[in-house]
Amino acid sequence: QVLNDFLDLKGNIRVFCRIRPIRIGEHFRCLRPVVASESSTVILKFDDNKSKNYSFDKVFHPGSSQDEVFSDVEPLIKSVIDGYNACIFAYGQTGTGKTFTMEGTPDTPGVVPRAIEALFKQAEESNHTFLISFSMLEIYLGNLKDLLVTHPTKATDPLPPCLSIKTDIKGGIEIDNLVAIQVSDFNQALRLYRLGCRFRSTASTNSNTTSSRSHCMIRITITCFDALERRRETNKIWLVDLGGSERVLKTKAWGRRLDEGKAINLSLSVLGDVINALQRKKRHVPYRNSKLTQVLKDSLGDDSKTLMLAHISPKEEDLCETICSLNFATRAK
Ligand code: ADP
Ligand code: MG
Repeated sequence: QVLNDFLDLKGNIRVFCRIRPIRIGEHFRCLRPVVASESSTVILKFDDNKSKNYSFDKVFHPGSSQDEVFSDVEPLIKSVIDGYNACIFAYGQTGTGKTFTMEGTPDTPGVVPRAIEALFKQAEESNHTFLISFSMLEIYLGNLKDLLVTHPTKATDPLPPCLSIKTDIKGGIEIDNLVAIQVSDFNQALRLYRLGCRFRSTASTNSNTTSSRSHCMIRITITCFDALERRRETNKIWLVDLGGSERVLKTKAWGRRLDEGKAINLSLSVLGDVINALQRKKRHVPYRNSKLTQVLKDSLGDDSKTLMLAHISPKEEDLCETICSLNFATRAK
């Protein structure tokens, strides 16, 4: 209902918040849940009986299913078939469920597989012919890396071509050399997605053993043809699993881990600035300040639909990061 029609609502940016459930084992650490929620408000309760409320377009409580989340995401998928560019991204501290929401598990698939399935279904139901192609890349330490290309394991292996970002005359963004594979059905796209996931840069940090220190980005491009097989338009949707938002100095990271954390923190803060500038209709939008926002430039803003899925932890010890994430998400509204 919230998303009945993205068009009728003011602005094109929606913000949802999802609260991760307490995991088995966490109960025994005597952590008091600090987050309560109604359908659109997160309430943080503090020791002194004070509380603070944060409102969003929708809040998913720890018991919300992947089905429930996707039913509110689906209208945005439909808008891509209707001719918009779109961008969905998962934001939050490491361990709060970003990958769970986007990728999901084999039993409970997340937004990415469901979005691909919905796109194919909607394309089939439409009167037009569509060509759908799939790309996947990662931004790691400010560099773009194609996730559908094998990367060298030995020093003598050839390097894959460098990806660079280009703007065309109409302001559209193209990524040079990014592999885009035409997919004819859901399963084919899903196989590519699984392949890309295996190539992600992952490393253990103090916060989480297999946390991702990179942004993982999937691009699905849809080209529509009319009855005379003439190309009408091309639209795309980006599905992004952002790097963990935790402040790097708190994680006791050093060396390469510290550089990775700083790169993530910087690009997330630019993303916040860009969204804020768009929401306030500012003349200058600082897209150029990070690779992340350069890539997303034509899918964030005026004629695009954007959805931020902000993730928070239910644990008391994460309260500081939870407040930071809620503030970040609130600033995007
Ligand atoms: P992130 O990608 O933000 O670092 P993950 O998605 O890896 O976090 O989630 C951390 C752990 O919590 C994983 O084991 C994941 O399966 C579990 N988890 C996260 N969110 C949920 C949820 N809504 N329901 C059940 N398990 C969840
Ligand atoms: Mg993750």
